[in-house]
Amino acid sequence: MKPASRGTLPEVDETLDPEDWDTLRAEGHRMLDDMFDHIAGVRERPVWRPIPAETRARFREDLPRDGVDVADIYREFSEHIAPYTAGNIHPGFMGWVNGGGTAVGMLAEMLAAGLNTNVAGRNQMPVEVERQIVLWVRRMFGFPDTASGVFVTGTSMANLMGILVARSARIGPSVRQRGLLDRGARLIAYTSVATHGCIAQAMDGAGFGTDALRRIPVDRCHRIDTDALRARIAADRAAGFEPFLVIGSAGTVDIGAIDDLAALHGVCRDEKLWLHIDGAFGALGVLSPEIAPRLAGIESADSIAFDFHKWGQVPYDAGFLLVRDGEQHRRTFAAPAAYLRRETRGLAAGSPWPCDYSLDMSRGFRALKTWFTLKAYGTERLGAMIDRTCALARCLEAKIAAEPKLELLAPVQLNIVCFRYRADDADRVNADIVASLHESGIAAPSATMLDGRLAIRAAIVNHRTGMRDIEALMSAVLELGARKS
Ligand SMILES: *Cc1c(COP(=O)(O)O)cnc(C)c1O
Repeated sequence: MKPASRGTLPEVDETLDPEDWDTLRAEGHRMLDDMFDHIAGVRERPVWRPIPAETRARFREDLPRDGVDVADIYREFSEHIAPYTAGNIHPGFMGWVNGGGTAVGMLAEMLAAGLNTNVAGRNQMPVEVERQIVLWVRRMFGFPDTASGVFVTGTSMANLMGILVARSARIGPSVRQRGLLDRGARLIAYTSVATHGCIAQAMDGAGFGTDALRRIPVDRCHRIDTDALRARIAADRAAGFEPFLVIGSAGTVDIGAIDDLAALHGVCRDEKLWLHIDGAFGALGVLSPEIAPRLAGIESADSIAFDFHKWGQVPYDAGFLLVRDGEQHRRTFAAPAAYLRRETRGLAAGSPWPCDYSLDMSRGFRALKTWFTLKAYGTERLGAMIDRTCALARCLEAKIAAEPKLELLAPVQLNIVCFRYRADDADRVNADIVASLHESGIAAPSATMLDGRLAIRAAIVNHRTGMRDIEALMSAVLELGARKS
């Protein structure tokens, strides 16, 4: 920071706004045009390219003391940042589970940034937009009008918050003052061995510790074994523990398995346990008439965590937590503070606010890009897009089954295909194939371990992915495999 010069008064009119709006306006239009071209022409570029050492090194410069022209900064962005992202907007990107985003979502992000409103709360339409999304999400999942919802960064945070709501529902409001104490040490949660790692992190973060999470075995399709779950609950009760929570999966990260959610609801009803669903990408399958029946039971959950930024194609980030008992949700997070006083009129009206349902206070306008996306495409088209990603996965599965050099490592249930090239030393060969695929820029699957075997994992999440990308992946894997084994 520049020290205020002594003796002279600061320029009273000096702000961070441009002196000449026309120059910035022209720059802005150029950036917007370039970014449309960047998205429209994504197929012409490699999915990913390695970052040159000089480029990386440029970003070790000293803290800037004097400002430079936005045009110069933008040139640096165009040359040194934009070409070297992870590439998940590219149709050949199939790694992990990443959404592709849309130009419509991008525009909404720009508008939200322009408004620069803090959606912690207050009497403003952006809060109503978030409430509109809460209403839509209730409809999607068949939840009652008393259910609450809130935007967060992603499903990792939504899972942690879901567990905190379950925690206060079981222990009561005293947990917020007194912590877990003795009783907390006996509380036990259950999930399958196929659940995402953020659940264990959330158990840690919520103060239970990961030992309080029982990992129940799965069938060959990676669905939780509900008989084993019931048996484990009984054994824990007999040993003096207090079961309180079951976390089901609607789309596991490795192979896209959906637990029998209706059966999990049955267990939770009988045992009086909270049912939380990690539906990070899979929950939005409710928009597809084909997938929705396989999610039956999700409407009975106590809470659901999911992302609009995966299958929903909303730009990062847009995680969401939905809670059946909205009052319980509010009681878990609302924190009275004098400076957050609510009124019945003026800017401080309109309680409760989103910050009453979350650990976040300041928060951006994530609801706007989600609202634009849902309105621009509608649930039918989004559902059809979700179906298409699953159809592509089935095509890839069929091609693998017909190719003797390849082997399928898990049944394809949604949009994820796990396979590998047959070879001696197959783990090394396939890890090598994945890295070479990345470097080739043709396709970007990721790798995972299934039953101790390294799998090439193609998760078709991007709405831009088509048959030619599946074919390009297949032929590149076969060619690299032949070269490396
Ligand atoms: C992606 C994912 C998560 C984590 O969600 P984030 O939005 O990355 O925090 C959790 N569970 C599953 C099944 C996932 O696919």
